[in-house]
Amino acid sequence: MQFIEYAIAMTDYERLAQRLKLMAHPERLRMLDILRRSPECVCHLEALMGRPQPYISQQVRLLHRAGVLQSEKRGQNTFYRVSNPEMLAWLSQVLGPVPEVERGIHRPLPDCVCPKCQRGPVLL
Ligand SMILES: [Zn+2]
Repeated sequence: MQFIEYAIAMTDYERLAQRLKLMAHPERLRMLDILRRSPECVCHLEALMGRPQPYISQQVRLLHRAGVLQSEKRGQNTFYRVSNPEMLAWLSQVLGPVPEVERGIHRPLPDCVCPKCQRGPVLL
């Protein structure tokens, strides 16, 4: 019996399976689709996704701990985004590319209290 030599180590398969498990979730995919376009805070995600703050925070925490999201504190708010090039490329494969005109563009919501919506359209 002949064994096939695989180029990928077992630990890499495990890492990939963990990522797929983390991503196999419609709300997390939606969240990543939002955060790969523009950095947003939890309150904006709450308004945009129509989910309660504890739920949003829980999903953000999971993705942040896994290294999928990066955070940046600005004043009282923490903004989350996808900035890892490998992750952005992976999301582009899965979700399709972000159109050029939508990159870095924050779309304000009329009933959102986040600092970016209060200031109107912002490039960040
Ligand atoms: Zn907002």
